[in-house]
Amino acid sequence: MKLKNTPVQQICFQQQTVFVKRDDLLSKGFTGNKARKFYHFLQQDLSGVDKLIGHGSPQANSLFSLSELAKLRQCQLDFYVDHIPSYLREHPRGNYRAALENGANIIALDGQVDSVLNHIREQVLPKESNALFIPEGGRCRYAEVGVKILADEILQWANLQGFSELRIVLPSGTGTTALFLQKNLPFDVFTCACVGGDPYLKQQFFELEEDSALHPKILSAGRKYHFGKLYPEFYAIWQHLRAETGIEFDLLYDPLAWICLQQLLNADVADSRPVLYIHQGGLLGNETMLPRYLRKLALQREPGSRK
Ligand SMILES: *Cc1c(COP(=O)(O)O)cnc(C)c1O
Repeated sequence: MKLKNTPVQQICFQQQTVFVKRDDLLSKGFTGNKARKFYHFLQQDLSGVDKLIGHGSPQANSLFSLSELAKLRQCQLDFYVDHIPSYLREHPRGNYRAALENGANIIALDGQVDSVLNHIREQVLPKESNALFIPEGGRCRYAEVGVKILADEILQWANLQGFSELRIVLPSGTGTTALFLQKNLPFDVFTCACVGGDPYLKQQFFELEEDSALHPKILSAGRKYHFGKLYPEFYAIWQHLRAETGIEFDLLYDPLAWICLQQLLNADVADSRPVLYIHQGGLLGNETMLPRYLRKLALQREPGSRK
């Protein structure tokens, strides 16, 4: 099975042209960043494998993507999480809801183990002879297979446009996607740390590539943002982009990257290299993020509210 080549859309941001690689349109279910990172497992010979095993947050994009992969490969998915919040259990939404609908077996260890990963390694995998374990969020060398295909699509597009130089911009979690893009492209890749700050991201780069000359450039927003928390400026730029371009971005990663891109464009007006922003999908997460934002903003508008 092959994934199709995703389109590039031209938008206007800050009175400048920005190109957006619509990887959110990769396919209906198996899509975006995680589809690129898990592509290897879509291609790999899985005869003899009847179960995929993953772990992470019950809201993670990778949970839903693994459930899609399991469906495509006709495997069971066992996904281990530390804990499922009761409101989510009672009102399944977003990635959690969609993964359940795909038949995922989501196993909450509820604080009974020190480390979910060690539990899987020591207790689960030895008893599962026909299972394939996939590291959290697809952070592994296998991710390069699919990300290289993305890089090749970008190169092809740049050639068609006659662009010899390009600035690639995308937000990072583990930094796996940004790093493998940088390794496979002759253009500068700019990213920002949505999870854990700049030193954490740098460390992630080193784990995948010792040569720091091959690392993406890290953009900083000038202040610390915590992953998954709500920030009015995040919602504002997300809504601005949706109104101006008609494109829905994700609310967890994309807002910080657009804020960083805004600063980059303002700081470096002389840099005429075109910008290509990678839309990495993750829109199911908005099913939980958007109501949270709307609740927060409604509370702030209530007269007499203390915020
Ligand atoms: C997982 C994910 C990221 C982060 O990707 P990394 O390779 O871990 O940096 C960014 N955006 C979306 C929508 C994702 O699902």
